[in-house]
Amino acid sequence: MNLPFLPFTRPSIDEETIADVANVLRSGWITSGPKVQAFEAALSAYCGDRPVRIFNSGTATLEVALRLAGVGAGDTVITTPLTWVATANVILEVGATPVFVDIDPVTRNIDLDRLEDAITAQTKAIIPVDLAGLPVDRDRLYAIAGKHVLRVIEDAAQSFGASWKGKPIGTDGDFVSFSFHANKNLTTSEGGALVLPADIDSGLCERLRLQGVQRFPDGGMDVDVLGGKFNMTDIAAAIGLGQMKHIAAFTARRRELARRYFERLAPSLGLELPPADFENCNWHMFQVLLPTGIDRGAFIAALKAQGIGVGVHYPALHLFSLYRSLGFRAGDFPHAERIGATTITLPLFPAMADADVDRVCTAIATLLGK
Ligand SMILES: *Cc1c(COP(=O)(O)O)cnc(C)c1O
Repeated sequence: MNLPFLPFTRPSIDEETIADVANVLRSGWITSGPKVQAFEAALSAYCGDRPVRIFNSGTATLEVALRLAGVGAGDTVITTPLTWVATANVILEVGATPVFVDIDPVTRNIDLDRLEDAITAQTKAIIPVDLAGLPVDRDRLYAIAGKHVLRVIEDAAQSFGASWKGKPIGTDGDFVSFSFHANKNLTTSEGGALVLPADIDSGLCERLRLQGVQRFPDGGMDVDVLGGKFNMTDIAAAIGLGQMKHIAAFTARRRELARRYFERLAPSLGLELPPADFENCNWHMFQVLLPTGIDRGAFIAALKAQGIGVGVHYPALHLFSLYRSLGFRAGDFPHAERIGATTITLPLFPAMADADVDRVCTAIATLLGK
């Protein structure tokens, strides 16, 4: 049995997109240009005509959103400890202090029942994360943010294509940040987008994106703010434009594959499955928790030996050395710690075959001896 290696994810890029990238490369203009403008326009249309600016990473969009929200030294920002570390790193990057609220063990997202207890006079913003593409309850989130007059920066890195009450994530809300990293549901290889709220100056957003530079019609320029180097290239934007055509089909296929996992993973295996949400969730990842007593490292190695790739997303980030050095300890956020220590991400990507799901489920059942 020598089946090809099945990675936990793989981008789907069509030939038309590849040809268009080649056109950009031949055009003589390969950095930010017409493709960036076109991709921004396409994203804006997708997000209900809200202003959108694109960046070279999702991390950059989060950092710039914090700056646009006026978050800096002396402020605290509330987020989840079970996310890609970028979510918390950007808080430190702008000189603010991260405050973590443990997750709800069912949704694996920030526990909104505990959110209000963490809010103090120093709290300036909340960064909720839609882990695996399962949206945080937007109604409850914005009710709390509104009551305490806090900014929200939705880390929707994983929830492009997901929705809340029938509307795509990005069409409503305060700041909304997307990532187009290679593994995300829509990719530009590396990249990100920031949906701006109506009260935020998009010109300032553009200056924070590129060295603070403002250009004038007479050829002069000025720098009035410290900006970064966060612009997307036309090469990347061409990939994004090609991906936009498929996003609905990508999400639909991911939902089908997720449904198949639910059908094929027997309850007797003792795995803890994610919430079976086929309306809002875009199934960025299919994550199961291993039963107690199973050595995760050995389990992953055994699947790999059978040609099946598995990911870990993520260990609870407050236990990383950097965050321990800030005072965080084991035991601070028990749900995030338990889930971070037992979670595995099974293969799921649009080009996967139904038979691939069956292969993964059979391998898991054999390994768990059921
Ligand atoms: C991918 C990701 C990011 C960062 O995006 P990059 O484009 O890699 O910078 C931030 N937060 C979450 C939850 C992510 O999954």
